[in-house]
Amino acid sequence: SNGSRVSALVIGSGYGGSVAALRLAQAGIDVHVIEMGMAWDTPGADGKIFANTTSPDERSYWLRTRTKQPLSHFLGFPIDRAIPRYTGILDAEEFGGITVYQGRGVGGGSLVNGGMAVTPKRENFRAILPSVDPNEMYDVYYPRANAELGVRTIDPAWFETAECYHYARVGRKQAQRSGFPFVFVPDVYDWDYMKQEQAGTVPRSALGGELLFGNNYGKKSLQKTYLPQIAATGRVTISPLHRVTSVTPASGGGYTVVIEQLTTTGAVSSAKSVTADTVFFAAGSVGTSKLLVKLKATGALPNLNNEIGKGWGDNGNVMCGRANHIWEPTGCLQSSIPTAGIDNWAAGGAFAEVAPLPTGIETWASFYLAITRNPNRAQFTWNPSTRQVDLNWQTAWKRAGIEMAKSIFDRINAKEGTIYRTDLFGIYKIWGDHLTYHPLGGAVLNKATDNYGRIAEYPGLYVIDGALIPGNTSVNPFVTITALAERNIEEIVANDF
Ligand code: FAD
Repeated sequence: SNGSRVSALVIGSGYGGSVAALRLAQAGIDVHVIEMGMAWDTPGADGKIFANTTSPDERSYWLRTRTKQPLSHFLGFPIDRAIPRYTGILDAEEFGGITVYQGRGVGGGSLVNGGMAVTPKRENFRAILPSVDPNEMYDVYYPRANAELGVRTIDPAWFETAECYHYARVGRKQAQRSGFPFVFVPDVYDWDYMKQEQAGTVPRSALGGELLFGNNYGKKSLQKTYLPQIAATGRVTISPLHRVTSVTPASGGGYTVVIEQLTTTGAVSSAKSVTADTVFFAAGSVGTSKLLVKLKATGALPNLNNEIGKGWGDNGNVMCGRANHIWEPTGCLQSSIPTAGIDNWAAGGAFAEVAPLPTGIETWASFYLAITRNPNRAQFTWNPSTRQVDLNWQTAWKRAGIEMAKSIFDRINAKEGTIYRTDLFGIYKIWGDHLTYHPLGGAVLNKATDNYGRIAEYPGLYVIDGALIPGNTSVNPFVTITALAERNIEEIVANDF
């Protein structure tokens, strides 16, 4: 409540925020988590908490009056439609040259993501975060993150027979015919539940086209892993629909944190301020960067160093579809959870997940989300005239990632005698080059912060989310975000409290 004092305040309840809250609470520290999205614990009019991908409604998007589907077209037709403005689950945040998709709610990105839970290869990790001891990460913190998140790989025997993975087996056949290594991608989806979905004995989620707007069953989001453990400590208060707007040193020590309470249409219903001894920035790469850049520029935290806002990347995300021959269908029933990918990272700088097109009808398309070693990095800056934070990413910078993705798909197309689909992102547009699902960086470890996420200029302030990672993880990022947060919070709890 207004005017109260808290020991640790955590901004955001995604992976970084959940790890921080749990470990602080287990160490006996009282924690208050401020989350601008909703709690996502109450069913809507249809009896379900989350909306289906094929029928978006107000629950689907964060404060938009029109959907902004990542695949904007189908058979060349635009598919976006009007929806009521509401504090929905998926934010399609638009900057000048890129739309950044993010989860909103208690559980952050875990609510909306595909659950692909990938530990990078050790040699790649060393290139990404050279100041972090890889032995510690691979012996302790990656195993801890994988265990807490419930990461599992699909049963390979079931994969061979499941109707819902016919599309992935087609992807494998084509990858292997072109000589690419094909690998299973672990996930936090409950594979036993998915088997029952395929058998028709339980309500369908992954097999019911649920993706992007939440999974009603099956996916072990943070709602099923860290968050129940956090609740069990009895030391953590979570305030959904509350947004942090300012953090500044308090006269009597600690920090004054200004918080706005939001209505479900995004209006500010009240503003409060509390004093916190410590503040953990876990608002996600974009959220944390935007806050810190604004606080530095507007004089709330003027001594923040000049690395704040820098080193932001898109994890090299690009998407594309390929048209298969008429005798090679990919299946009407497609699990929304990708389970395998094509690894051409070492040779071509690309790792491509074989992704579903869960439309319920045969599309003869193979669809891919590629993670590439795109080297471009952008910067967040404060725009005094709009009083907003801008990001200087240029759409043309995706070209580097597209070239890397082509190292896989040009070869497959040549071998198969097939072509790219041109109807998924517009009319005659091959590449989904306008978006990322994997924002990373903006407050990079050992640059903007010390080697554990401490903001050196302001004792008691920490960064503990995807903002720490310099733009790329070579694989899907949340396992690395979780493992790095586990590493950092252990050091912080042991030495700073
Ligand atoms: P987040 O999880 O983004 O959490 C930040 C939280 O802070 C959010 O809940 C936000 O609402 C809140 N917040 C922001 N600003 C404020 C503020 N000012 N005040 C209060 N609260 C605030 N990654 C994978 O590894 N595998 C996948 O399969 C995968 N699929 C994805 C699919 C989609 C559609 C998307 C969007 C992402 C996907 N990701 C995936 C990415 C992954 O979800 C993110 O990398 C991850 O969630 C980032 O974790 P985080 O802790 O940095 O921040």
